[in-house]
Amino acid sequence: MEITLLGSSGSIGLQTLDVCRKHRIWIKALAVKSDVRTLEFQAREFNPRYVCVYDTSYYGHIKTRLADTSIEILCGKEGLCEIASLGSGMVVNAIVGMEGLEPTLEAIERGNKIALANKETLAAGGELVMKRAKEKRVEIIPVDSEHSAIFQCLQGHNKNEPSFISKIILTASGGAFYGYDKERLKTVTKEQALHNPNWKMGEKVTVDSATLMNKGLELIEAVRLFGVKPEQIEVMIHRQSIVHSAVEFIDGSVIAQMGVPDMRVPIQYALTYPKRAVGMAERLSLTQTGNLTFEKPDEETFICLPAARKAVSEGNNACAVLNAANEAAVKAFLENKIEFFRIGELVSLALENVKANKKVTLKTIFEDSAAAVEYVNKSL
Ligand code: MG
Repeated sequence: MEITLLGSSGSIGLQTLDVCRKHRIWIKALAVKSDVRTLEFQAREFNPRYVCVYDTSYYGHIKTRLADTSIEILCGKEGLCEIASLGSGMVVNAIVGMEGLEPTLEAIERGNKIALANKETLAAGGELVMKRAKEKRVEIIPVDSEHSAIFQCLQGHNKNEPSFISKIILTASGGAFYGYDKERLKTVTKEQALHNPNWKMGEKVTVDSATLMNKGLELIEAVRLFGVKPEQIEVMIHRQSIVHSAVEFIDGSVIAQMGVPDMRVPIQYALTYPKRAVGMAERLSLTQTGNLTFEKPDEETFICLPAARKAVSEGNNACAVLNAANEAAVKAFLENKIEFFRIGELVSLALENVKANKKVTLKTIFEDSAAAVEYVNKSL
């Protein structure tokens, strides 16, 4: 098997290469945003036919670094779309942010199977992506641990017939500020926000996890991927991150997928699906794990979650507004321009004040996203 990996220097990208190393999966192409040092190491180890750096100002650097090889070097959005549409069998999209949307659509047009870890793609462009994937009969296999869990629970059922699902239980670690109230949330620091109790992840998703926006985006993803209504998704705080999500069926059976929190499990499942292969993660010992707890999230303090529910009920482009406002607010927080609690406020305000297009096209998704970013940056 051969894959194209977009976002190879990030947390998911590195763990994907771990899985490829173990199972001898070939790499056709690798892409990073700007980390050409890591890209050079990876290119020398995996010897892909193409590499791409998204930030065009690094094109010269990577060209020099790989001058002694025959690897073809591409750059920019065009380069990213070009490698996504190579006939590679599978594209693993581990890009963080909206930049992942167009390569996903390119991969679908080419008929490449997609292992999707880029949640902003489905959050911002889910309607469009799922529609094209259905038309082109392209399979989208989720990599996110929760959606992989749901996907695994649904094996053996007809994917186009969600009527047997009664509800989806989407679990959440609770993030860094579990148990905090509104007042206490006003005192937190960036260092605290960048600490997740169970999962080691990139900065954006760790902050999203602390605001619970991560769960909000995942709720939208679940609606798109599995064709259920937003009301059918129940978010539960599960501090131990052992149950990665569950499905309740119409007969009352609940099937859950469990395991130690290790992203290499869902990544590997996406790469080997529908088969299973020997895994690299530690084994789950339920006796050592002890009690598993489940509770309702505090949606009065963590307002991003109800905002996401509202957006998905309104329609696709409201989700694009929500997602873009969040990307802009998190960026401002990471640049020390705003306090943590303002992320939720700005996202909610953007959702109220930025008028989203009713018509879903790539153009309107980007227009509405840009309007949301502008709104947030003006309101900082
Ligand atoms: Mg997740």
